Amino acid sequence: MSTAIVVGAGPNGLAAAIALAREGVQVTVLEAADEIGGGTRSGEAILPGLLHDHCSAVHPMTVGSPFLRELGLDRYGLRWALPEIDCVHPLDSGTAGVLHRSVAETAAGLGGDGRRWRWLFDGPSAAYDTFDADILGPLLRIPRHPVRLARFGVPALAPASLLAKAFATDEARALWGGVAAHAFHPLDRPLSAAIGLGILTAGHRHGWAVAVGGSRRITDAMAALLTDLGGKIETGVRVRSASELPPTDVTLWDVAPTALADILGDRLPPRVARAYRRFRYGPGAFKVDFAVEGGVPWTAEAARRAGTVHVGGTYPEIAATERDIHAGRMPERPFVLVGQQYLADPSRSAGDVHPVWTYAHVPADWSGDATGAITAQIERFAPGFRDRIVGTSVRTTPGFAAYNPNYVGGNIMTGAKDIPQLLFGPRPTPHPYDTGLPGHYLCSAATPPGPGAHGMCGAHAAARALRHLRGQTWSP
Ligand SMILES: Cc1cc2nc3c(=O)[nH]c(=O)nc-3n(C[C@H](O)[C@H](O)[C@H](O)COP(=O)(O)OP(=O)(O)OC[C@H]3O[C@@H](n4cnc5c(N)ncnc54)[C@H](O)[C@@H]3O)c2cc1C
Repeated sequence: MSTAIVVGAGPNGLAAAIALAREGVQVTVLEAADEIGGGTRSGEAILPGLLHDHCSAVHPMTVGSPFLRELGLDRYGLRWALPEIDCVHPLDSGTAGVLHRSVAETAAGLGGDGRRWRWLFDGPSAAYDTFDADILGPLLRIPRHPVRLARFGVPALAPASLLAKAFATDEARALWGGVAAHAFHPLDRPLSAAIGLGILTAGHRHGWAVAVGGSRRITDAMAALLTDLGGKIETGVRVRSASELPPTDVTLWDVAPTALADILGDRLPPRVARAYRRFRYGPGAFKVDFAVEGGVPWTAEAARRAGTVHVGGTYPEIAATERDIHAGRMPERPFVLVGQQYLADPSRSAGDVHPVWTYAHVPADWSGDATGAITAQIERFAPGFRDRIVGTSVRTTPGFAAYNPNYVGGNIMTGAKDIPQLLFGPRPTPHPYDTGLPGHYLCSAATPPGPGAHGMCGAHAAARALRHLRGQTWSP
């Protein structure tokens, strides 16, 4: 029987482990933290009974993941719940851009911009299931559905700012800008529209779902399946050098590329080591979880029913904050993502006290405290919010790097999403999962298709490892 070690029990490490175990490989997963899950961990943080997602919260890409959806994770307790409204972007005027799961309903609320919204999302979201595997994989390959992919992919090549110009209303422009800003990248750069279009298209197909019982249920279910397949998981084991590992046929690394360069040392071909060491990380995150009595009193009524609220004001304001953090400047009024997962999953609340998940985009390695700025931004669109706060729990930018070694400098995307890294991952090759060292594969979100709890990086890396085990590998 072939053996595999997977280092890191994030969604990608576990996806890789499952893909291998399903093919009869004996798999052991080694995880540095005391619990599995990486960027999907959840737990209490402020009050007993109040459940917070420590990292990922909203999962259109996970529900629709071509790998995960085939696993039957519902048999292991994974259930999805949808909020009444997916996302709202409030403005100072009291109006808001409102994103519904339905393209038509969203368009109906966007006045003259509704037609443009339909043009962008009607076709791609209806056809999403036919090309999701094309966008959730390495891009240097022949797509299975080139025409449908092109319909999605041509606008994705544009800067987000160009698409913003196509909208006439402040509401539509802001709604688009808030989602595009998930890329943590200046919105005037080519390809900066890609991540936003991907999230919106997947969202119009699957909704901005949350996992009932917290995001940890995603990886708990994956771990339970892996155990059923005979896999083993050991926590509290941080691998610092490949020489610490027992002999095995293949090793998959759910780690940051710079860390892998250190771990594999001079076993790596020098050109690959150089590429990993030069890997770029983008801006960081600063997270505040709130316990809020009675929920957030948003002025825009739709925001009170939305799973996600994007707080940052108009499109020009958001574009400026993203430019600032990229240049290392902390904006006075940062872009803040607010999660109200409890609206879809009331089991997370304790009576009338609700967990409100927020994080701000900040410069890489930023050492300041954004708690006041985040609170002020929410208060701006929800006067009275401050008075409802019962407690807070803060994870600073360096705190993120300490919590998970993959979040270098507090960058929760496992790498900057500039053009080369978005398209190819750490190095330009048709096989971004190969490390050039036979039997060793990179499977973290640093590889295509990038961040998100979809497990697709792990599934693609495992496919390369299986080819190696079958003696079919070619590594450029
Ligand atoms: C605040 C925040 C909000 C987010 N929001 C969303 C969201 O709403 N939706 C979404 O889909 N995604 C979201 N994400 C992103 C998502 O969580 C990640 O993209 C995803 O978890 C990446 O999976 P991964 O397996 O590549 O890495 P990770 O989940 O980071 O897991 C890597 C694991 O490897 C372990 N590890 C690393 N190095 C070693 C080592 N040397 N030895 C042993 N173990 C090691 C780590 O401890 C960790 O457990 C968010 C992330 C954060 C932090």
